[in-house]
Amino acid sequence: MTSALAPGSILFVHPRHRCFGRDNQVPMGVIALANSLGPGVRGVFARELTDEHLRAARVLLLDVQWFFALDSAMRIAERAKRINPAVRVIAGGYSATIFADDLLQRSAVDFVVRGDAERPLPLLVDALLQGANPADIPNVSSRSFANPLSYQLTREDYDAGDYLNIDWFPSLDRAARDAQRSPYPIWIYPFIPVFKGCKYPCDYCLGNERAQRLLCGRSLVSRSPERVAADLRRVEATPHLRRAYIIADFLHVLERDYAEPILSQHYDLDLYYEFYRVPQPEDVRRLARSFRRLFLAYFFIRNHGSVNAEASEVEALDRATATAGEARADLAVNLHLRGLREQPAMNRLLLEYYRRHRWINLIDSSLWDFPMPPADHLLRPDPLTFDRFRALSAKETWKWRVREWIVARFFGGPRRHRLLFRLNSRFIAALLARRARP
Ligand code: SF4
Repeated sequence: MTSALAPGSILFVHPRHRCFGRDNQVPMGVIALANSLGPGVRGVFARELTDEHLRAARVLLLDVQWFFALDSAMRIAERAKRINPAVRVIAGGYSATIFADDLLQRSAVDFVVRGDAERPLPLLVDALLQGANPADIPNVSSRSFANPLSYQLTREDYDAGDYLNIDWFPSLDRAARDAQRSPYPIWIYPFIPVFKGCKYPCDYCLGNERAQRLLCGRSLVSRSPERVAADLRRVEATPHLRRAYIIADFLHVLERDYAEPILSQHYDLDLYYEFYRVPQPEDVRRLARSFRRLFLAYFFIRNHGSVNAEASEVEALDRATATAGEARADLAVNLHLRGLREQPAMNRLLLEYYRRHRWINLIDSSLWDFPMPPADHLLRPDPLTFDRFRALSAKETWKWRVREWIVARFFGGPRRHRLLFRLNSRFIAALLARRARP
């Protein structure tokens, strides 16, 4: 479709995210979408975007997957139109879907691809480059039309996506190589997609059944396990990659035998795997048999809110991970520090846990001064909500600036990664020790 185009004619810009280091975290779906657009596409982070990039672009793509990107995406769209009025701006992602009308009426975004974009986006980009009328393309909204969500991702289309090639985004490739040298996982690349949607009902999460129906018009969709296994083989065969990331807990969410084609083989790779529920020892053993080393993550935060899990879950998780044997399971426990304040017994348990596993991750919005909205808020769009989310995503505070400085100062090489993780872990351990005192 776009083979004759110069690289950069289709420009993808990943907006700034003032939350949890997502500045470098390009949604995995974007990688497959960009790969479906041919050689004319080029990716840049918002921080490296220049006027030359914008002048060369005929189509500008913005991912607004999480609401943290709203303000940055709107500013980029406005700047693009100032510098290159002919450029056509397309936004996509869950938050773009929720706020499609607001984005179209109150920003320089020309089109929003709502819900699943695997087929609609290439059709839309092609139509814009050919000067054709895009008014019939499913899932697309503009200022003058809003087409129904008549395209839903199928397993066939999901399997066809290339989620690993990032040649078109050189700075993401550099960030990914750097992150791979870290002794501990840094969530940049490569994520191996397994399913979209989820069977659990967490009301905050856009992965739950109700949200997926509203946003995409479908329930859970998964890739074939053979395709997941093939991607792991591809990562394994890439010399500079040592670790793969699976953040879709197929052991709990999908049927029991789904995992068989994936876990019946061994990969010379480390695996970062997120559990949505406390695993059984057998779950951990199955993963341990298939990978060199495990980094198992478990969210000790209920429903992404401010309440931590029960002590019994910590104990069960500890028992399960102890069965990893040779694969040596390191654990990421994501804590909410405010929620822990009133739980001295939990602090004691976690401290012991930290002493055994040496890795505790930190999630605490109060530290970054980034207030989270109440549960279910994302699914009730109205102009006030949009303003509130834009204001939140624009928030620049001294805490954020300190965090930016720390990331810039300490991220950039394996020794720095190690130091940052040690500082992070020790800070949390010291805090736990203080709170664990009776
Ligand atoms: S378990 Fe995780 S992915 Fe599933 S609905 Fe809850 S928060 Fe979302």
